[in-house]
Amino acid sequence: MRYASTRDPSHTATLSEALARGIAPDGGLYVPVEFPRLAADDFAGKATLTEVATRFLEPFFAGDALAPDLHAIVADAFDFPVPLVELEGGGSGRDVAVLELFHGPTAAFKDVGARFLAASFARLPRQAGRPLSILVATSGDTGGAVAAAFHARPQIEVIVLYPKGLVSPRQEQQLTCWGGNVRSLTVRGTFDDCQGLVKAAFADASLRQARELSSANSINVGRLLPQATYYAQASLATWRRTGKKANFIVPSGNLGNVLAAVWAKQVGLPIGELVLGFNVNRAVPDYLASGEWRPRPSIATLASAMDVGNPSNMERLVNLHPVWTELKHSVSAEVVTDAELSARIKTDRARYGRTWCPHTAIAAETYARLSAAAAAAGPWILVSTAHPAKFPETIEPLIGATLEVPPALARLLSLPRQASEIPATLAALKAALA
Ligand SMILES: *Cc1c(COP(=O)(O)O)cnc(C)c1O
Repeated sequence: MRYASTRDPSHTATLSEALARGIAPDGGLYVPVEFPRLAADDFAGKATLTEVATRFLEPFFAGDALAPDLHAIVADAFDFPVPLVELEGGGSGRDVAVLELFHGPTAAFKDVGARFLAASFARLPRQAGRPLSILVATSGDTGGAVAAAFHARPQIEVIVLYPKGLVSPRQEQQLTCWGGNVRSLTVRGTFDDCQGLVKAAFADASLRQARELSSANSINVGRLLPQATYYAQASLATWRRTGKKANFIVPSGNLGNVLAAVWAKQVGLPIGELVLGFNVNRAVPDYLASGEWRPRPSIATLASAMDVGNPSNMERLVNLHPVWTELKHSVSAEVVTDAELSARIKTDRARYGRTWCPHTAIAAETYARLSAAAAAAGPWILVSTAHPAKFPETIEPLIGATLEVPPALARLLSLPRQASEIPATLAALKAALA
């Protein structure tokens, strides 16, 4: 399998090259040159996430230097459960379940992609003595997941850049509690400044001479591939149980999570409708409605991990569905305000006894808006992207109760913080790296 740039398809790379580069030399994103085809029968006898993931990823790894390591990478990355939990209550008798992606070390779905990428990077052949530096700009969640995934891996260092004062206290703790091979830089600027610094570092010849630089942001194909596997597993389980295709509702920002679902469907997994829930950053819903692509500055919301005004994975979605009318048939979208997601958290806690994180609440609100016919047709799967205890400032006042913190997260919250503050300049970043 080779991977081509979304911009110049004549530029192709092996999987290992695509993983190491992150972004194609022409600024495009890597996509499979052609999608393998797999049917439910190809997964006979495979039920666990590791079994399904290994089978699903085999053709994506075929011919690459990492192919013999696929099983080990999957086993290393998926060392936490990704359960599909029936949503009971509400008295409707509807077939609806929650895909819980938040049982990893930092309690959010980005652990899946980050751990897989780290497990892959650790096995990539490298020039002796040349350390690999992973630069990651984060608006909150990604950096913690990447730091957790790469922490204590030999010959790899991680530099996390986050905007000073613009992440929640609990997020900041998860960005700065690591030490060892993880360095945390508090940048006096915005998330866009952090991203700009990472781009400038990549373009800087002197930095690249001393070290191998790579990124772990959601544009890396090594984050998307493992995410496709939980859609494969959940849809296969649903298919075997009901003989029907699973419909998913995905809270979306940069579109990495939902793109993985689109890819799994493209491969041939039994996936029906894909409905995207957005906060008021509505570039994608507006595009689906109008056919006009208008990226814009991001707006801050309670579902902050989805505050993306110009989702980078749009380029991959349009690459797969270049015709607007075709894309409109492939996915649909809803927009949910902070007031609506807050109300949904209260309503569903009473109805189902479940407490959503602000992002998952957008999926739950989107589900509640389905027509009675669509909801009854099912089966529906709500994708739950984070544990509510990551967002106590938002959730606890709404529910009037204290959230129980899962043990892995509790451990991180008890570690000391260490971070250096820098201005948003390349010179300051270079000095910090020296
Ligand atoms: C990143 C994130 C999202 C959005 O996922 P995308 O892949 O950017 O669409 C949703 N919820 C949580 C908790 C996240 O961390």
